[in-house]
Amino acid sequence: MDALSDYIIPIVGLKLGDHPYQFKVDGKFFEEFDNTELEDGVLDVDLVLTKRPNLMELVFHVKGQIETFCDRCGGALELPLEHKEMRIIKFSQEDFNNTDEILVLGNDEHEIDVSHMIYETIALGLPSRRVHDESVNGESCDQEVLDKLSEYQEKEESEDVDDRWSALKKLLTNKE
Ligand SMILES: [Zn+2]
Repeated sequence: MDALSDYIIPIVGLKLGDHPYQFKVDGKFFEEFDNTELEDGVLDVDLVLTKRPNLMELVFHVKGQIETFCDRCGGALELPLEHKEMRIIKFSQEDFNNTDEILVLGNDEHEIDVSHMIYETIALGLPSRRVHDESVNGESCDQEVLDKLSEYQEKEESEDVDDRWSALKKLLTNKE
Protein backbone atom coordinates (compact mmCIF):
# COMPACT_ATOMS: atom_id res chain seq x y z
CA MET A 1 0.00 0.00 0.00
CA ASP A 2 1.16 3.49 -0.82
CA ALA A 3 1.45 5.37 2.47
CA LEU A 4 0.53 8.59 0.73
CA SER A 5 -2.73 7.43 -0.87
CA ASP A 6 -4.68 9.02 2.02
CA TYR A 7 -3.61 12.41 0.76
CA ILE A 8 -5.26 12.22 -2.63
CA ILE A 9 -8.38 14.35 -3.11
CA PRO A 10 -10.84 13.63 -5.91
CA ILE A 11 -11.71 16.91 -7.62
CA VAL A 12 -14.16 15.77 -10.27
CA GLY A 13 -17.54 17.42 -9.78
CA LEU A 14 -16.37 19.56 -6.88
CA LYS A 15 -18.70 22.55 -6.52
CA LEU A 16 -17.47 26.15 -6.40
CA GLY A 17 -16.80 27.35 -2.87
CA ASP A 18 -15.09 26.11 0.27
CA HIS A 19 -14.37 22.44 1.01
CA PRO A 20 -12.75 21.49 4.31
CA TYR A 21 -10.53 18.40 4.68
CA GLN A 22 -8.73 16.87 7.62
CA PHE A 23 -5.60 14.74 7.57
CA LYS A 24 -3.29 13.12 10.09
CA VAL A 25 0.44 12.93 9.66
CA ASP A 26 2.73 10.53 11.51
CA GLY A 27 6.01 8.64 11.21
CA LYS A 28 4.86 6.66 8.16
CA PHE A 29 4.27 9.90 6.29
CA PHE A 30 7.78 11.20 7.02
CA GLU A 31 9.33 7.92 5.86
CA GLU A 32 8.17 8.77 2.34
CA PHE A 33 10.32 11.89 2.20
CA ASP A 34 14.08 12.22 2.18
CA ASN A 35 14.97 14.75 4.82
CA THR A 36 17.25 14.07 7.75
CA GLU A 37 15.97 17.11 9.65
CA LEU A 38 12.39 15.89 9.70
CA GLU A 39 12.15 12.24 10.58
CA ASP A 40 9.11 11.87 12.73
CA GLY A 41 6.17 13.69 14.16
CA VAL A 42 2.47 13.66 14.82
CA LEU A 43 0.44 16.46 13.31
CA ASP A 44 -3.11 17.39 12.42
CA VAL A 45 -3.64 19.03 9.06
CA ASP A 46 -6.63 21.21 8.28
CA LEU A 47 -7.07 22.07 4.65
CA VAL A 48 -9.60 24.45 3.20
CA LEU A 49 -9.88 24.10 -0.54
CA THR A 50 -11.68 26.97 -2.23
CA LYS A 51 -12.76 26.21 -5.74
CA ARG A 52 -13.10 29.12 -8.16
CA PRO A 53 -13.91 28.95 -11.88
CA ASN A 54 -10.31 28.48 -13.13
CA LEU A 55 -8.29 27.78 -10.04
CA MET A 56 -8.29 26.33 -6.55
CA GLU A 57 -6.89 27.95 -3.43
CA LEU A 58 -5.58 25.55 -0.82
CA VAL A 59 -4.88 26.79 2.69
CA PHE A 60 -2.99 24.28 4.83
CA HIS A 61 -2.83 24.60 8.59
CA VAL A 62 -0.56 22.11 10.33
CA LYS A 63 -0.37 21.71 14.09
CA GLY A 64 1.37 19.15 16.28
CA GLN A 65 4.77 17.87 17.33
CA ILE A 66 7.78 17.08 15.20
CA GLU A 67 10.96 15.25 15.99
CA THR A 68 14.22 16.71 14.87
CA PHE A 69 17.73 17.20 16.28
CA CYS A 70 19.18 19.78 18.63
CA ASP A 71 21.61 22.26 17.03
CA ARG A 72 23.59 22.50 20.24
CA CYS A 73 24.00 18.93 21.56
CA GLY A 74 22.80 16.88 18.58
CA GLY A 75 20.28 14.93 20.67
CA ALA A 76 16.74 14.06 19.63
CA LEU A 77 14.47 17.04 20.04
CA GLU A 78 10.69 17.24 20.07
CA LEU A 79 9.25 20.58 19.06
CA PRO A 80 5.75 21.97 18.82
CA LEU A 81 4.95 23.21 15.34
CA GLU A 82 2.10 25.26 13.95
CA HIS A 83 2.17 26.75 10.48
CA LYS A 84 -0.09 27.97 7.68
CA GLU A 85 0.64 28.09 3.95
CA MET A 86 -1.43 28.81 0.87
CA ARG A 87 -1.00 27.15 -2.51
CA ILE A 88 -2.84 27.80 -5.73
CA ILE A 89 -3.67 25.20 -8.34
CA LYS A 90 -4.48 26.51 -11.81
CA PHE A 91 -6.02 24.52 -14.59
CA SER A 92 -4.74 25.08 -18.07
CA GLN A 93 -3.83 23.13 -21.18
CA GLU A 94 -1.11 25.51 -22.39
CA ASP A 95 0.48 27.47 -19.59
CA PHE A 96 2.60 25.16 -17.44
CA ASN A 97 4.58 27.78 -15.56
CA ASN A 98 4.83 26.27 -12.10
CA THR A 99 6.17 28.46 -9.31
CA ASP A 100 6.60 27.84 -5.59
CA GLU A 101 3.05 28.98 -4.91
CA ILE A 102 1.29 28.06 -8.12
CA LEU A 103 0.94 24.56 -9.49
CA VAL A 104 -0.50 24.17 -12.97
CA LEU A 105 -2.49 21.07 -13.81
CA GLY A 106 -4.17 19.98 -17.00
CA ASN A 107 -7.94 20.48 -17.34
CA ASP A 108 -8.51 16.73 -17.33
CA GLU A 109 -6.94 16.00 -13.92
CA HIS A 110 -9.47 14.21 -11.77
CA GLU A 111 -7.57 14.14 -8.49
CA ILE A 112 -4.78 15.96 -6.66
CA ASP A 113 -2.13 14.59 -4.33
CA VAL A 114 -1.60 17.09 -1.50
CA SER A 115 1.08 15.11 0.38
CA HIS A 116 3.97 17.23 -0.93
CA MET A 117 2.16 20.44 -0.09
CA ILE A 118 1.55 19.19 3.45
CA TYR A 119 5.20 18.24 3.74
CA GLU A 120 6.30 21.66 2.49
CA THR A 121 4.02 23.39 4.98
CA ILE A 122 5.61 21.42 7.82
CA ALA A 123 9.16 22.04 6.56
CA LEU A 124 8.50 25.79 6.18
CA GLY A 125 7.16 25.87 9.73
CA LEU A 126 10.35 24.46 11.22
CA PRO A 127 11.94 27.07 13.47
CA SER A 128 15.41 28.13 12.26
CA ARG A 129 16.87 27.75 15.76
CA ARG A 130 16.29 24.25 17.06
CA VAL A 131 17.67 23.66 20.54
CA HIS A 132 16.58 22.05 23.78
CA ASP A 133 14.96 24.77 25.83
CA GLU A 134 13.29 24.25 29.21
CA SER A 135 10.82 27.06 28.58
CA VAL A 136 9.77 25.88 25.11
CA ASN A 137 9.88 22.09 25.17
CA GLY A 138 10.67 21.28 28.80
CA GLU A 139 13.88 19.51 27.86
CA SER A 140 17.50 20.39 28.36
CA CYS A 141 20.64 19.55 26.42
CA ASP A 142 22.64 16.41 27.01
CA GLN A 143 25.15 17.76 29.54
CA GLU A 144 27.64 14.98 28.87
CA VAL A 145 27.82 15.91 25.20
CA LEU A 146 28.14 19.62 26.01
CA ASP A 147 30.97 18.88 28.45
CA LYS A 148 32.79 16.87 25.80
CA LEU A 149 32.28 19.62 23.24
CA SER A 150 33.68 22.33 25.51
CA GLU A 151 36.57 20.06 26.50
CA TYR A 152 37.36 19.63 22.84
CA GLN A 153 37.08 23.36 22.25
CA GLU A 154 39.41 24.17 25.14
CA LYS A 155 41.93 21.70 23.83
CA GLU A 156 41.73 23.30 20.41
CA GLU A 157 42.20 26.73 21.92
CA SER A 158 45.28 25.76 23.87
CA GLU A 159 46.81 24.32 20.74
CA ASP A 160 46.00 27.45 18.84
CA VAL A 161 49.02 29.67 18.30
CA ASP A 162 47.25 32.52 16.54
CA ASP A 163 46.41 35.00 19.30
CA ARG A 164 44.12 37.09 17.17
CA TRP A 165 42.00 34.05 16.42
CA SER A 166 41.68 33.07 20.09
CA ALA A 167 40.73 36.63 20.96
CA LEU A 168 38.03 36.57 18.35
CA LYS A 169 36.82 33.19 19.54
CA LYS A 170 36.60 34.49 23.10
CA LEU A 171 34.62 37.46 21.91
CA LEU A 172 32.15 35.18 20.16
CA THR A 173 31.87 32.81 23.13
CA ASN A 174 31.21 35.68 25.53
CA LYS A 175 28.34 36.84 23.39
CA GLU A 176 26.42 33.58 23.87
ZN1 LIG B 1 20.34 19.90 23.07
